Amino acid sequence: MLTQHRHTSGDVGTFYNQHTDVYDRALGGNIHVGYWDDEADDSPMQAATDRLTDLVTERLAPSEGQRLLDVGCGHGSTAARIVAHHAVQITGISVSDYQVNLANSRPQPPELPGRAAFRLADAMENPFDDETFDGAYAIESLMHMKDKKAALGHIARVLRPGGRLVIAEHSLAGELDGPDAARMAHAYAYFKFSLTTDMYGELLREAGLDVVDHTDITENVRRCYESMISGWRDAANNSSGETSREWATAADLGHWFFFEVPELRYGLLTAVRR
Ligand code: SAH
Repeated sequence: MLTQHRHTSGDVGTFYNQHTDVYDRALGGNIHVGYWDDEADDSPMQAATDRLTDLVTERLAPSEGQRLLDVGCGHGSTAARIVAHHAVQITGISVSDYQVNLANSRPQPPELPGRAAFRLADAMENPFDDETFDGAYAIESLMHMKDKKAALGHIARVLRPGGRLVIAEHSLAGELDGPDAARMAHAYAYFKFSLTTDMYGELLREAGLDVVDHTDITENVRRCYESMISGWRDAANNSSGETSREWATAADLGHWFFFEVPELRYGLLTAVRR
């Protein structure tokens, strides 16, 4: 999900080694936003974050026997849900060894239709052979990657022609200006959202992937931000010194960002490898 002042993959890994549990608690066992149909939908957090997984899976439309790459797999909750319902083989990568260990120690009873395995790897230096996968998904992981061009280029390379990529991510609907731009520059040290939706589209096309769908679900996911920000405030209260100050600043900026910046959007992008 979100991270603070982390610029290298090693820093992002260290962050998730230390703080995966903060997100897991705030987001009901997943490390991504939840989806609610409308105001009347009173689904609890876990049901809502599982639904986001299901929306990504629907877009991947995996068929039996396919191999999928989970780019930035967290502690494996997403892949676990997919292999519980689909006869696919998932390989997940994360830059946090804590997460990889958690993911690999989830029970996978033999009656599950699919299988998942996880390893420590950097998506910007993706170690897999060309055309290894039938599909790939990246849920709230690209935001952490400094070189998105490299990450997307590698994803395209390891997908077979016709293979799908589904991205679930925050982006900006346009550039900010005035005081918002300055505040955004500060926020950028914490949240790396500042890629516009159009820039994602461009990078995908350059990488050899055609965008076939973009669905903006900002209003459907908004409800999870209160819980996430409370989680950050708790983290500030439960730590001290610089760490505590960072969480508190992240919570303040997050509140601004998620509730007062209309340009901040959350979308599902589906692309097909040419
Ligand atoms: N997709 C998961 C986790 C989201 S948290 C879920 O939806 O639950 C962000 C994830 O991105 C973490 O697992 C982190 O390790 C991963 N990540 C960040 N930068 C990465 C990189 N360069 N290569 C691989 N994974 C990365």
